[in-house]
Amino acid sequence: MEAKISFQENFAISEKSKIYVGQVVREKENLSLSAHKSIKNIPIVIKPNCSVRDVFLAIRKAIQEVMKKKADIFSINSAEIYSFISDKINVYDFYSTLTTEAIIASYVYDRFKKAEKYIKKIVILDVDSENAKKGFNKGKNIGYSMNVARNLANDPAQYLGPEELAMETENIFKVSNNVEIKILSESEARDEGLDLYLSVGEGSYRPSKFIIIEYNNASSKQYERPIVLIGKGVTFDSGGINLKPSTPGGIETMHMDMTGGAIVIGTLLSAVRNNLKKNVVGIVPAVENAISSKATRPGDIVNSLSGSTVWVGNTDAEGRLILADAITYAKKYDPRYVIDIATLTGAALVALGEYGTAYFTDSQELSDLIQTAQKNTMSSLWRLPLWDEFAQNMENNLADISNISKVRWGGPSNAASFLKHFASGYDSSITKWAHLDIAPRMTSCAYDFLSVGATGEPVAMLTNFIEKV
Ligand SMILES: [Zn+2]
Repeated sequence: MEAKISFQENFAISEKSKIYVGQVVREKENLSLSAHKSIKNIPIVIKPNCSVRDVFLAIRKAIQEVMKKKADIFSINSAEIYSFISDKINVYDFYSTLTTEAIIASYVYDRFKKAEKYIKKIVILDVDSENAKKGFNKGKNIGYSMNVARNLANDPAQYLGPEELAMETENIFKVSNNVEIKILSESEARDEGLDLYLSVGEGSYRPSKFIIIEYNNASSKQYERPIVLIGKGVTFDSGGINLKPSTPGGIETMHMDMTGGAIVIGTLLSAVRNNLKKNVVGIVPAVENAISSKATRPGDIVNSLSGSTVWVGNTDAEGRLILADAITYAKKYDPRYVIDIATLTGAALVALGEYGTAYFTDSQELSDLIQTAQKNTMSSLWRLPLWDEFAQNMENNLADISNISKVRWGGPSNAASFLKHFASGYDSSITKWAHLDIAPRMTSCAYDFLSVGATGEPVAMLTNFIEKV
């Protein structure tokens, strides 16, 4: 498969630039981003007392407008913009997010259809302090890594199955220092006891691949025990024998059911490029959930690595099966934190709309860390409960646990409780676990001002998390 990470990486810091088509001007009390010369007025106005989010959304919107108007270069008068929100965000975080936002807003997935026009260069003016430059460099690495994750998530399933995802992962980290990639074949996974994971790919002719990325760059003993990130890597989810219906925005988007895996790969790349002094392990159980006479049947009972038996009540609730085995597998790393990231339930969309990721954890400490890490990153994460009733919903007469709930309501929490059953294999005093249901943020929505397709969220939040813990 050809190398295809081809988006523009043209990006510069400039003290002053003569050629710019987009500039920031103050108009009375408002800050408006408007265009100059070849472009007439981009009507974006940021009101006084605007939030940090408002400002970054305006940047996205301005870049989208500039692209529509076929301009080559976009410049951002950063000092001017910062003056509007300097009481709400520090210089380092501002430049990091500004740069990330500029890169992700100019992204177009163009593997099969060229965009009419690309922005050739984005110039951020007035990046003068040390902290601003540090933030700029961090943001550049995050933006790049998010776009790599978006490319992976956007690729159609016929080009990106488990094997290709494994190959792409090897390519992406080919020149990285302190990174080791391990790919477990099906027989190696069988030897490890990953039967629950393997059961999901049983119906596909494409072999499952258990992808492991080990990044060892801890600066001291304190950081030796790693952070483990686990990403759902279902490269196409037909639903299996419980075939998904053909409702718009449904089965035909299921090549993106490996977005959690893409986010893990993107976050590891961001950690490597930012030279974060931590040990991080990324695990992406990659499978295709297909239909054939070999496919797992509804009603089958499968062994898991943890020793618990699982009744498969519905073959479309497959993401939790591969995650469950990965969660147990992660124990061997003696991790400080384990976070799994998955497009797990449509019900998370029902709960939060298209606007935020649902997260679950029993650890208040980890919840607080997630909240701190998300600040100023343009991703919203909202905590949902893990009450005992949800665990009772997953009980089963024939096996230790069922992959579907007896009760219709509370889908995201039922799924999270299934995962919690396996995370209870950790000693909770030394290993904190959280689950992120990113289904609501799999694709961009109308208010995002991003190109259609994957959003790359929450790579920035996870990068901050790794940096801070
Ligand atoms: Zn499914």
